[in-house]
Amino acid sequence: MKITRVSVFQVDLPLAKPYWLSGGRLRFDQLDSTLVAVDCDTGHRGWGEGCPWGHTYLPAHGAGIRAAAELLVPALLGQDPRELDRLNRLMDLVLPGHLYAKSALDVACWDLFGQATGQPLSALLGGCESEAGAPIASSISTGQPPEMLAEIQRYRDRGYFAHSAKVGGDAALDVARIRYLEENRAPGETIVYDVNRAWSRQEAVAVMTAVADLGVTVEQPCETLDDCAAVARRTSTSISLDERLETTGDLCRFISEGIGEVVNIKINRVGGLTKARRLRDLAEASGLRLLVMESGGSVIADTGAAHLAATVPEHLMIGSWLSHDMLSKDLAPGRGARNVAGRMPAPKSPGLGVAPDLAQLGDPVAVYQ
Ligand code: MG
Repeated sequence: MKITRVSVFQVDLPLAKPYWLSGGRLRFDQLDSTLVAVDCDTGHRGWGEGCPWGHTYLPAHGAGIRAAAELLVPALLGQDPRELDRLNRLMDLVLPGHLYAKSALDVACWDLFGQATGQPLSALLGGCESEAGAPIASSISTGQPPEMLAEIQRYRDRGYFAHSAKVGGDAALDVARIRYLEENRAPGETIVYDVNRAWSRQEAVAVMTAVADLGVTVEQPCETLDDCAAVARRTSTSISLDERLETTGDLCRFISEGIGEVVNIKINRVGGLTKARRLRDLAEASGLRLLVMESGGSVIADTGAAHLAATVPEHLMIGSWLSHDMLSKDLAPGRGARNVAGRMPAPKSPGLGVAPDLAQLGDPVAVYQ
């Protein structure tokens, strides 16, 4: 089985409504997504998607994925897509770093591996621990406390029971937001308070100390891992690591220094399913709880995350996320990982289990063969 051709597509994915990230400092209206179709001499075609959450959230942007493909794809042509670790070493050799730019190609090769073996990705990634799928965490835009609760209620009405509420930007208001949402949290419901790096160390210590009696989890309170480590020494509030988890080295430090108890593995940010799987194993072996999701994209991206999320034992899984649930465009209507009573079951068909409607993608922006 050899890779014979890679087609690269660009598609704009409009958000159903504008979205403000923690502190209201970043606004998003549309995502720039890159889909790759990897064809083989066996006639199989695998799909992957790389879609950063805009270009201001992380050091990643859509055009970067397409530019990196010019360097990465020649190294993959002629290779066996089932040899995932070896393919990742090849990509790391021709382009060190740039993890986000490698994810779509990695996922497309996993799709091919699954199709070739007749297995869904959840089976190949270790085995499905949850037929019902991981809980889907809503993404609640920063706002006044009643506005945020109203947004949570809209998700509750659709079956959601896990939420990622965005806070940050105003320490006093953040304490009020967290207290208000905790007072109104339903039985069995999970809320992670996601700061997206918006607090200074001083603000983080102040807020996390003020809400320490609530036993909540705060995600990525400050900019760097050093900041998070410093804050962790001053507060008993649990920390989840998100944006600054990129490599196994980051995770090893997080674990060995006891910085926090939760990690959020985003497939695109860490370089694809092959590298995400390694982080999952290390996190599980260290007793951390996990969120597993994509950084953005259509149902194609979300479905890859659904497969990996389904392999996490239920007692360690906090939740995933459906980026496509926030879009006004659907690249594969009715197919792939969807909201079923607040969970996202992974498809049981071989491979990724979903492919986009070609008519919605238009012509490829590049074809390598
Ligand atoms: Mg986060």
